[in-house]
Amino acid sequence: MTPIHIIGGGLAGSEAAWQLAQAGVPVVLHEMRPTRATAAHKTEGLAELVCSNSFRSDDKDHNAVGLLHAEMRRLGSLIMRAADANQVPAGGALAVDRDGFSAAVTAALTGHPLIAIERGEVAPPPDDWDSVIIATGPLTSPDLAAAIRARTGEEQLAFFDAIAPIVHRDSINLDVAWFQSRYDKAGPGGSGADYINCPLDRAQYDAFVEALNAGDKTAFHDWEADTPYFDGCLPIEVMAERGRETLRHGPMKPFGLTDPHRPQVKPYAVVQLRQDNKLGTLFNMVGFQTKLKHGEQVRIFRSIPGLENAEFARLGGLHRNTFLNSPKLLDDTLRLKANTRWRFAGQITGCEGYVESAAIGGLAGRFCAAERRGETLVAPPPTTAHGALLAHITGGHIETIDAGPSSFQPMNVNFGLFPPIADPPVPDGRRFGRGSAKNLARKAALSARALADLERWLGGDLPAAAAE
Ligand SMILES: Cc1cc2nc3c(=O)[nH]c(=O)nc-3n(C[C@H](O)[C@H](O)[C@H](O)COP(=O)(O)OP(=O)(O)OC[C@H]3O[C@@H](n4cnc5c(N)ncnc54)[C@H](O)[C@@H]3O)c2cc1C
Repeated sequence: MTPIHIIGGGLAGSEAAWQLAQAGVPVVLHEMRPTRATAAHKTEGLAELVCSNSFRSDDKDHNAVGLLHAEMRRLGSLIMRAADANQVPAGGALAVDRDGFSAAVTAALTGHPLIAIERGEVAPPPDDWDSVIIATGPLTSPDLAAAIRARTGEEQLAFFDAIAPIVHRDSINLDVAWFQSRYDKAGPGGSGADYINCPLDRAQYDAFVEALNAGDKTAFHDWEADTPYFDGCLPIEVMAERGRETLRHGPMKPFGLTDPHRPQVKPYAVVQLRQDNKLGTLFNMVGFQTKLKHGEQVRIFRSIPGLENAEFARLGGLHRNTFLNSPKLLDDTLRLKANTRWRFAGQITGCEGYVESAAIGGLAGRFCAAERRGETLVAPPPTTAHGALLAHITGGHIETIDAGPSSFQPMNVNFGLFPPIADPPVPDGRRFGRGSAKNLARKAALSARALADLERWLGGDLPAAAAE
């Protein structure tokens, strides 16, 4: 059988190679280290963790990444096997001895009879490779990035993410905030009431600007220091530094909006949140990309009226990153629509984090193996953690309602990506009120549904929605 070529031996490429080889398909895994370095990797080991040694929560019942761990274990993940074997104490989190972890992955791949490892940069993939998985991550080598851009179009591969915080819709207080588009404009695909608006009076606005100016910010890495600030996406704290009124004339402008709770009071400033996923469970804070530290973001953003109890699906950030405009470019098995010989995996597809990258690597490996064996593999249902993440990448995200830069940004797995359960079951037959007990029951129900649907997917007995 002709081998599949995988470019990049990181978290995603390693998992993809393993899933392919375990399915009986030969693989050549190309890793450029140590011949060529990245700005963050320090070793020549496969699946090197470039920063923290944590795979985050291992709670499969109440945490979406813990659920993803459980699903990956069920799918025979090498990354999870190596993580479990190299675990270090970290409370409810799964943290690993990074050297032992990377050594275990390297040994398993090196020792597999169907995997050949070749060291050296690939840029671009040769034309005679009929099936390639590109898993080169946030620090894809510049020559390969140029080759990808040539295929996809200049605007379709980003080199920085500029992430505004994303809030769970059901944690926004609609007794204070309200739905309305500026001047009630419907726009393409809109209803005229597409944004959630949070009003600030003058004292609240002044305090907010002051908090931004005083807030602790994250520094850029040396190699990120020349981060270009695009005019359309200046961090809010940079805008706040430019003058007290700057935000009020930028993302916090109050014009064309009327607070239905207090129609006689004109808000001094307004924070707008825009729907972020097709399910309508997540809303992003428009224009609020920021380098404030995460704890500071939670503290300062919860001072915005309507967001007192906001639960954040992700916090803002600005990083060096390389990722595709995947919802536009990739099909639902992660192949480039314009050249189906190329499949993408890992962070370059627009997921975020070690675990998510490995999970998407695993799916890419499974899709590719099925294709090589002449079989059809449908995507896992969106009710599973794998399916929810895949749906974010390949179609669950909505395009911006109004003109502006592409709004697709990398995302960790979180329960906001899952289709909601309308009426989650409760253990003792009573309904929970608002608050954490209800939230825990909801998460437990989402997790149980995910694991059951994953079994059905594995058994070929799919929920109707997934088989469409
Ligand atoms: C500075 C930094 C800190 C981070 N911190 C964290 C963190 O604390 N926690 C977390 O969960 N995530 C973190 N991330 C994100 C994390 O790195 C990724 O989510 C994860 O490693 C992505 O996996 P991947 O397989 O897609 O890419 P990687 O793991 O980066 O693997 C890509 C591989 O491709 C190789 N490669 C690149 N170009 C070529 C080429 N042309 N030919 C051959 N090989 C090539 C690279 O050498 C690398 O080994 C961080 C990222 C960065 C940049």
